[in-house]
Amino acid sequence: MCLFTGLSARAGHWHAAGQAGSLPGWIHADAPLMSRKLYIRTFGCQMNEYDSSRTADLLARSHGLQRTHDPAQADVLLVNTCSVREKAAEKLFSEIGRWKELKSARPGVLIGVGGCVASQEGAAIQARAPYVDMVYGPQTLHRLPQMLDAAGRGARAVDVSFPEIEKFDRLPEPRAEGPTAFVSIMEGCSKYCSFCVVPYTRGEEFSRPFDDVIAEVAELAAQGVREITFLGQNVNAYRGAMHGGGVCDLAELIRFTAEVDGIGRIRFTTSHPREFSDALIEAYAEVPALVSHLHLPVQSGSDRILARMKRGYRAQDYIERIRRLREVRADISLSSDFIVGFPGESDADFEASMRLIDEVGFDNSFSFVYSPRPGTPAAAYADEVPFVRKKARLARLQARIAEQAAALSAAMVGSVQRVLVEKPSRKDPRQMSGRTENNRVVNFDAAPALGGQFADVRIIEALPNSLRGVLVDAPAAARRM
Ligand code: SF4
Repeated sequence: MCLFTGLSARAGHWHAAGQAGSLPGWIHADAPLMSRKLYIRTFGCQMNEYDSSRTADLLARSHGLQRTHDPAQADVLLVNTCSVREKAAEKLFSEIGRWKELKSARPGVLIGVGGCVASQEGAAIQARAPYVDMVYGPQTLHRLPQMLDAAGRGARAVDVSFPEIEKFDRLPEPRAEGPTAFVSIMEGCSKYCSFCVVPYTRGEEFSRPFDDVIAEVAELAAQGVREITFLGQNVNAYRGAMHGGGVCDLAELIRFTAEVDGIGRIRFTTSHPREFSDALIEAYAEVPALVSHLHLPVQSGSDRILARMKRGYRAQDYIERIRRLREVRADISLSSDFIVGFPGESDADFEASMRLIDEVGFDNSFSFVYSPRPGTPAAAYADEVPFVRKKARLARLQARIAEQAAALSAAMVGSVQRVLVEKPSRKDPRQMSGRTENNRVVNFDAAPALGGQFADVRIIEALPNSLRGVLVDAPAAARRM
């Protein structure tokens, strides 16, 4: 199934090569165990951020490692890589090249490479960078404690297999860090878009059982979390087994989640238009906790380019889904992904994307000039669009979406928004900062006691990257008098 040489041959094993038997050197160094430090550098998406934070929880439990933001202080250095962005391997080797010097200065330091590039490259990483002790994939990070022990004995460990759901069973209980939390509900992707490496690096789609997800949500809610973001590469392809038999889709999971005490907001990312079902649209009609914001990647407005990308829908299908959604949620704000300058994209194809943007109206976008990812079908496509033309197209597209977002912010002035208050504002500690349903940061005068609660805030000014507001309604104890 894999386009990358050797990946399928590597799947399903983990091995540790090198001398074994001696006790981990880094455990026996001078500093006490509890002061051992872990540094994790994360590239890429929210899935990777989530994996990094669960990795930190895991190694805190197994080895007492405390997280540091300074690589020079760390005893274990991990990089969680992403192969979606350009020059992923170069970025990785430049990062760990700097760590090689840290390891030379302190030989007990251990270095690990995880994430999608690790999945793609496997043992080739250690062939190029022999000072790397551990290579693990997104689905095997739960085995890091054993790999760390092996590496501490001088063995070099590689495990980039896809043991599916095992990962979630082995991770520690989630710990809330504020009123918002991510919950990963599915991994992998079976869509095989022609430009994307994810199906090869994270494997096919698989969903966590429904009961495990709800138990995690309830645990986080009990710790004070008020907003849950469900994560998955194709999160709306979720099909979780239920304990009494049957399968739960994302729409049903959202309904159950809204019933969990304390949960006031539900988000999910990232969705695929093909999986954006009628049931999900009904959930928007019936579940107020499901926020009025949706990230739904379209990638292009040209049917010809969508077919070359193997996206499995036409521009009109996408527009129609949004029309149906707006019938039940008129105020929904939308963000999307666009790839500009895909091989063969003509001026007419690009203008089709601009027309789609005008018709739908977006609030934000993750938009990039196309660049090939090794091993994907599109990497073999002839690409005649000059780079400078691609850049010019991207600038036009981003400027149009920025105009749309600014108009939406301006239209919010005077309205009262429900805000989930997070923390004191970075610029003015007398103010609190929170987010609206459509993901805008709002700063307003309030007491710190309001943190972690919902408040109604009237928007008084739209700034380029945030809003200013005044508190209208909040729990009495939390108002600044
Ligand atoms: S849907 Fe396409 S772009 Fe998204 S992860 Fe799957 S293959 Fe990649």
